[in-house]
Amino acid sequence: MLDLMKLCTKSANIITENNIVIAIYPGSFDPITLGHLDLIRRSSRLFERVIVAVLRNPNKRPLFTVEQRLEQIRLSTKHLPNVGVDSFDGLAVEYAQMQQAQVLLRGLRAVSDFEIELQMAHTNKTLSTQIETVFLATSNEYSFLSSSVVKEIARFGGSVDHLVPPHIALDIYQCYNQKSLASNPNATNITLPCESP
Ligand code: ADP
Repeated sequence: MLDLMKLCTKSANIITENNIVIAIYPGSFDPITLGHLDLIRRSSRLFERVIVAVLRNPNKRPLFTVEQRLEQIRLSTKHLPNVGVDSFDGLAVEYAQMQQAQVLLRGLRAVSDFEIELQMAHTNKTLSTQIETVFLATSNEYSFLSSSVVKEIARFGGSVDHLVPPHIALDIYQCYNQKSLASNPNATNITLPCESP
C-alpha cells in the first residue's frame, strides 16, 4: 500500500528529494474521536509522517481549549511514532507549506462530507498547486461518528465510552458535570476543566 501511495504521489510530483511524504491532518478535534484515530492510524501506514493539526479558530466556541485538545491527541497517538501533534491558525495550505508537507489529509464519512470536502480541496488547489488533498474513507463502524455527536450524547448524560478513548471520555464527563454544577446558583468556586459555552 505504501508503494501504491508512493507511485501516486510520485506521479503527482510531490515526493521530495529525501523521498519523504508528510501529511497534515487538519481539523477541530473537539474532541478527537475513535473515528479520527482510526484514520490517523491508517494514514500513519501510508505516509512517512502525519501531523495532526488543531485549528485555532476564533469563530468557534469549542468544548475544550486548543491546549487540552493537543494533550488529548498526544496521549491518544503516543503509540504511533511517526505521528506528531501541533496547532495552527490561518490557512491549512500555508501551514502545510511551512511544515514542508505535500498532502492534506481529510476523512470522508458520507456523501454529505464529500460536497464540502471537494469544494475545500478545489479551493486549496487554487492556493497551492503543490499540495494534494488525499481523502480516506472512514471505516464502516465510525461512519456515523463526529465530535458533535459525542458532545450531544454527553450533554444529555449518555455514555460516550464506545466513541472516544477512556481518558477523553473522563474529560468529557468531568466537563459536563462541572457545567451542570456551575449552572446551579448555590454553587461557588467552580473551576471549569473546559471552555465555558
Ligand atoms: P472540521 O472542523 O475540519 O470538520 P473535524 O475535527 O470535525 O474538523 O474533522 C476533521 C477531519 O476528520 C475531517 O476531514 C472529517 O471529515 C474527518 N472525520 C471526522 N469524523 C470522522 C470519522 N468518524 N471517521 C473518519 N474521519 C472523520
